[in-house]
Amino acid sequence: MISNIDHIAIAVHDLENALERFRTLIGATDEQILIEEVPSEKVRVAFIQVGNSKIELLEPLGTAGPISKFLEKRGEGLHHIALETENLEAEIERAVKENLLPISNPSEGAGGKKVVFFNPKDTSKVLVEFIQKIQD
Ligand code: ZN
Repeated sequence: MISNIDHIAIAVHDLENALERFRTLIGATDEQILIEEVPSEKVRVAFIQVGNSKIELLEPLGTAGPISKFLEKRGEGLHHIALETENLEAEIERAVKENLLPISNPSEGAGGKKVVFFNPKDTSKVLVEFIQKIQD
């Protein structure tokens, strides 16, 4: 079951600048904000907690990663929507049965979570991520 919108991710050129504007718009406190580098994805990420969901700002690290390429092609804007599940494998299986195919195998994303992305061609050009939090 999909239980929650975990985050909405936006690609930005300048993380500090974007974070400041979103922080101000939302009225977020320091406790609501987390900044993290994910070298494997070549991004720097700022999470702003908003209720049960987060706004995730993605800034490229260098010019070789997917966010850098996205910005080059499309400029700043909505990058993906992440939907939370407690059973990633079951949700992938359910989607595949409906002919909605993941574009990669499940992998470890920011914050030590299991994630998988679906083909945006099937979802009105919006990249959709399924995410399962790892219980520790
Ligand atoms: Zn994400």
